[in-house]
Amino acid sequence: MSSLTYAEWEARSRDLQIEGRAFIQGQYSHAASGETYDCFSPVDGRLLAKIASCGDADAELAVRSARRTFASGVWSRLAPVARKQVMLRFADLLEAHSEELALLETLDMGKPIGDSLNVDLPGTVDSIRWSGEAIDKVYDEVAATPHDQLGLVTREAIGVVAAIVPWNFPLMMASWKLGPALATGNSVILKPSERSPLTAIRIAQLAIEAGIPAGVLNVLPGYGHTVGKALALHMDVDTIVFTGSTKIAKQLLSYSGESNMKRVWLEAGGKSPNIVCADAPDLQAAAESAAGAIAFNQGEVCTAGSRLLVENSIKAQFVLMVVEALKAWQPGNPLDPATTVGALVDSRQLETVLSYIQAGHDDGARLVAGGQRVMEESGGTYVEPTIFDGVNNAMRIAQEEIFGPVLSVIGFDSIEQAIEIANDTPYGLAAAVWTRDLSKAHQTARALRAGSVWINQYDGGDMTAPFGGFKQSGNGRDKSLHAFDKYTELKATWIKL
Ligand code: NAD
Repeated sequence: MSSLTYAEWEARSRDLQIEGRAFIQGQYSHAASGETYDCFSPVDGRLLAKIASCGDADAELAVRSARRTFASGVWSRLAPVARKQVMLRFADLLEAHSEELALLETLDMGKPIGDSLNVDLPGTVDSIRWSGEAIDKVYDEVAATPHDQLGLVTREAIGVVAAIVPWNFPLMMASWKLGPALATGNSVILKPSERSPLTAIRIAQLAIEAGIPAGVLNVLPGYGHTVGKALALHMDVDTIVFTGSTKIAKQLLSYSGESNMKRVWLEAGGKSPNIVCADAPDLQAAAESAAGAIAFNQGEVCTAGSRLLVENSIKAQFVLMVVEALKAWQPGNPLDPATTVGALVDSRQLETVLSYIQAGHDDGARLVAGGQRVMEESGGTYVEPTIFDGVNNAMRIAQEEIFGPVLSVIGFDSIEQAIEIANDTPYGLAAAVWTRDLSKAHQTARALRAGSVWINQYDGGDMTAPFGGFKQSGNGRDKSLHAFDKYTELKATWIKL
């Protein structure tokens, strides 16, 4: 926890030296084409840096670097206990640079500095540390063979991993890939979102300082349709691990089929239901949680509780409670430690969110809170957390991922109806149910088609449990030992005795 004031964060933000170049084979370098693009802060529109706009030639260089390093064994064949030590040093360095990295994150994508510092950075450090700590404690298998055979079932690093990540938790999403990818011995090319590349670029240098050999972690900033596509189509990338939208996730599956059938692991979008039954143990806690579930990180959360399903017998009263709770979540300057809601990532996202607010009006939902762009004079991109009541699950604001602070309230009369509405979306990332009836809680959790289900809370979890989606929310899992599956191939070796 930092004790810096708003004025001190502001002063530091003016003094920051920001790196915008790519990182290949242990060194910062300009894009091969020399092209850059401007990176503006959504906080107030200031120009932060010129970012290398990488393309095919950079992808080629980075893949070659990663492949060469992987084949050399300098990291891939290091004893797990030795890789662990380096990973732990990397985690320590990230922790030691928490304030700098949190400030970069906040300036780059607009989230409150308190969140960057107390959520994103600890989450990032945990992920690297947890995977590092685990890697010398996982064992391979001996198969149940006839007595004249010995069957070994071993896991091997897959090779060259391209990690393509989004802008909403730039560093933390990257770390969910980097932790298991590096711990298992792979070489990685990290492609941050063009909308939030700064922390990914910075940590490449920290990885070298920690002792991760040059070429094991390369970072290529740039656009998805240029360098992202080049990596996804590359014949020498063994696997793509992706977090981002369902639309691009589907595109990556095609690229894999068009190229070398590289493995494709997808963490995609969500439209998660938060079901509040009349017998919830604590309606006040449920209301405060429902407000946080849509306002935290400006609603730019894959697991945002964007559909609030409330039993009709308590709906009118409960919606008033959520409106009241949302007063604690109002936009402010992200560099102010008191701010709970920051700026949307950029003006494109602002337009998207405002267009969905308009769609809510057009489709006949009833606005009960928010609905406006605010703080326009700051030069930043701020919108009020917004609630629509009287939403029907077929409306656009109930079916499509808005990725902003817009909550749709939908009534239900029975838990069967709630489950049907909850599952009636293309997504299946997360869901919650609030009830004091233990059987109903468990039965509902089983019936919900989602990768994470919370009971009497919203958004719990840590590194110990897998995270990922059903249906069009993706495949595979980040976090926990299950994540290691994405970064390794299984090999069966038969020895005749
Ligand atoms: P996005 O799909 O637009 O972009 C994600 C990444 O893909 C970026 O780095 C982008 O440059 C890259 N990309 C874009 N086009 C590409 C192409 N043609 N080829 C290769 N790469 C390409 O998503 P976004 O707007 O950055 O992030 C928001 C989305 O991420 C939301 O849908 C959200 O739900 C999802 N998300 C999911 C999780 C999860 O764990 N399931 C977590 C966070 C965010």
